[in-house]
Amino acid sequence: MSHIFPRHTKQVFPTAVRGEGCYLYDSQGKQYLDASGGAAVSCLGHGDVEIIEAVKAQLDSLAYAHTGFFTSEPAERLASLLIDHAPGDIDRVYLVSGGSEAMEAALKLARQYFVEKGEPKRGRVIARKQSYHGNTMGALSAGGNAWRREQFGPLLIDMSHIDPCYEYRLKHDGESLEDYGIRAANLLEEELLRVGPETVMAFAAEPVVGATAGALTAAPGYFKRIREICDKYGILLILDEVMCGMGRTGSLFACEQEGVSPDIVCVAKGLGAGYQPIGAMLCSKQIYGAIEAGSGFFQHGHTYLGHPTAAAAGVAVVNAILERNLIPRVQEQGEKLMTALADEFNQHPHIGDIRGRGLFQGIELVSDRDTKAPFDPSRKIAARTKSAAFDAGLICYPMSGTIDGRLGDHILLAPPFIIEDSQIDELVQKLSVAIDTAL
Ligand code: PLP
Repeated sequence: MSHIFPRHTKQVFPTAVRGEGCYLYDSQGKQYLDASGGAAVSCLGHGDVEIIEAVKAQLDSLAYAHTGFFTSEPAERLASLLIDHAPGDIDRVYLVSGGSEAMEAALKLARQYFVEKGEPKRGRVIARKQSYHGNTMGALSAGGNAWRREQFGPLLIDMSHIDPCYEYRLKHDGESLEDYGIRAANLLEEELLRVGPETVMAFAAEPVVGATAGALTAAPGYFKRIREICDKYGILLILDEVMCGMGRTGSLFACEQEGVSPDIVCVAKGLGAGYQPIGAMLCSKQIYGAIEAGSGFFQHGHTYLGHPTAAAAGVAVVNAILERNLIPRVQEQGEKLMTALADEFNQHPHIGDIRGRGLFQGIELVSDRDTKAPFDPSRKIAARTKSAAFDAGLICYPMSGTIDGRLGDHILLAPPFIIEDSQIDELVQKLSVAIDTAL
């Protein structure tokens, strides 16, 4: 009898025993194509010898040293490597254990920055309805997915949530994509004026929305307008690249493709690629400078901050992404995946939208393609697609829920960057069968 407290207490999961390349294997020898890298984690695939050796070597020399006493070589190396490739004024790296911790640190740093600057009234965060920023209380408060939030209401911090930039559902007929992008971004200004800009500290958003929206990209110009509004009212732009960062969309930082530079950016999943739990919160010179010139102490921290072994994995992963030229590969294989999905599903009566960037793509399932009407939530189409795919040996990431909570079913695809053409075909074939089984 198992003593594990699983996520799903009414389901029995197979035991994963081995990973190799794009595949995972269970104890019965069944093979699974990992088409979502778990949850956009395994960007290098499984069993990567170079990364494993880097982790082993670090364990041999120094597994752990507390950051209250020491810095470490791998943490210093990882910070420098990230800053060498980070956008704009980003200058400092705070290493944590995962995405929620990175976002939690971002929110607290934003608050402390304004306190130290002598603007203590600034405490409100504006985020978006269709977003996920993690499961800890601050990050969950910033997230706008009703299903994830609803039972924890009394524990959450009051934040604002504006509509996301969601072309498929929110662009008006006849409106250009560019005009829609500006209109969607202007919702930030409207909310700032409604709540009083002097009370707001930050706007938080995922450049490409993952877990709650199936690879939702912003309209061209959306983030540039967001940046302008943030600057106009003196609020910080926090970009959550926990899922979409580290090369997943075809650039190391997803925001590079939006032409904006954030004040704070968070990365995680692909940073450790599953070989170690690690995340990072990166901030600008200006923010770091305010703390340095002020109290000199960021009043936040976890025991495993800057963990040397996790950092060693991060160094090896980032080097692998860069040195193996995986970013151009993400672009190339991403185009092939998009074409294959379009060929398979463009005429499908229940696929409303196919979207994404690089190897971060999603499909939105609808009951009626013409009216875009979603499925009745009780049918759990996304969850059933996941199960049918899993039975067929395919791992994909399902999510129900759009701007109004439980409206809509999405499947997110985030395969390893090393995915081969034949595996793209296998992915699409298995997904197609799974969708038809779920329907
Ligand atoms: N932010 C985004 C955009 C995410 O997709 C996730 C996880 O899916 C998180 C934050 C939370 O990361 P973690 O699960 O590592 O705490």
